[in-house]
Amino acid sequence: MTREKDLMTVTGQNLKDQIRKLVELQVMDEEIFRFKRELREKPVELEALKVEFDSKKVTLKELEDKLKTVQVQQKELELDLKMKEEGIAKADASLSLLKTNKEYQARLLEIENLKADKSIVEERILLGYDDVDAARKALEAEKVTVLQYEKEFNAKKKQVDDDVAVIGDQVKVKESQRSRIAPEVRPDYLSRYERVLKNKDGLGIVKVDNHACGGCHMHLTEQVMNELKKYEQIIACDQCARILYLADDL
Ligand SMILES: [Zn+2]
Repeated sequence: MTREKDLMTVTGQNLKDQIRKLVELQVMDEEIFRFKRELREKPVELEALKVEFDSKKVTLKELEDKLKTVQVQQKELELDLKMKEEGIAKADASLSLLKTNKEYQARLLEIENLKADKSIVEERILLGYDDVDAARKALEAEKVTVLQYEKEFNAKKKQVDDDVAVIGDQVKVKESQRSRIAPEVRPDYLSRYERVLKNKDGLGIVKVDNHACGGCHMHLTEQVMNELKKYEQIIACDQCARILYLADDL
């Protein structure tokens, strides 16, 4: 064996060793990537529920306002009724003071009109009771719904907070494991791998699968396959830039 060939074998061994370490990193990075995506998505689930919960609270406020409005209307009608009753009493009392029959008849007609007005108000008050009742019932029903939503939201929030805490811990564990292996990879290989990892959805190194890139599935030429087998340098997919390796060789 020539000295040159000897060196190449050593380099090849080193490169294989480096690729093995990159594959080890990839296993961890895939998990870290997945955990981090979950950390981003978890609060979004909660946000949707919060929007729904808030809209229920708006409905509750509307129903409270509605009840207040019909109660105020009812109070006004009752006041109106009281005034009409006072008017009738006053007119009744004045009857004995009237001097002519004409005045008397006119006052009687006036009293009749006042009484007719009064019975219209009484009718409206009766109907108003139904309105108050219906508004109160709707409000009570909505309160139950809001309470239910609040329970669900709080339970979900607790679940999300717990999940986020657990996943956060898992990320820390994986990152600490990763930091033990990463320094064993040549800095230029590592930065290349990490660049692809970042740009390609957490997948920086992929195995060759049946003459195709394991990442984007592009068919690999014979030339690329030969280059891979030589172990002279890192070989990447022309299409997706992911680093390639032959699983059988490791
Ligand atoms: Zn590819």
